[in-house]
Amino acid sequence: MTELQIVTLPDDVLRKKARPVTKFDADLQTLIDNMIETMRVANGVGLAAPQIGQSLQLAVIETLPEEDENGETIPDSRELFVIVNPRIVWESREVIDGIEGCLSIPGYVGEVERAYAVRVRAQDRRGKPLKLRLKGWTARIFQHEIDHLNGVLYIDKLTDRENFWSDEDYYNMRQAELEEEAEDGEEVEETAVSEPNE
Ligand code: ZN
Repeated sequence: MTELQIVTLPDDVLRKKARPVTKFDADLQTLIDNMIETMRVANGVGLAAPQIGQSLQLAVIETLPEEDENGETIPDSRELFVIVNPRIVWESREVIDGIEGCLSIPGYVGEVERAYAVRVRAQDRRGKPLKLRLKGWTARIFQHEIDHLNGVLYIDKLTDRENFWSDEDYYNMRQAELEEEAEDGEEVEETAVSEPNE
């Protein structure tokens, strides 16, 4: 497998609506395998084809590992999805704010409101129809990646212009919040201080 070059802002390909995939041939299979490899090397949880310079309706997603009741990561609990020509056919009225990063906007994170749950129709890597019901973090990743296929980036959807930080500022802010909570004697909820990249 080959690691592909990830394109970053302000590359125009990130702002184009991607073309539908029509051929599920050997070249597509190679491209998909290379995208999976590239996502993993970059420690990402999702990668859309425009992010490697291919204006195609295609994305790969690998969910975060699940945790057991002690907060320990459960091995092999990540789930890999390949979605081709995807569309969101339903989204919950319930929305949730969360912090997102993007491999095409390295060094920054921002707060974005997303539907808590979505239903997606797509094709798999062989062209077979897929129907997916997703919620929580997984639903957020799908919304982020499908936005990429329409030329939309998370920075277009910030909850507030100010809710956009460098990794370092965000890390320091979270640390300060955790320390403050600890001083107040509140039970500190353990949250990851580094956010996954999509
Ligand atoms: Zn992204």
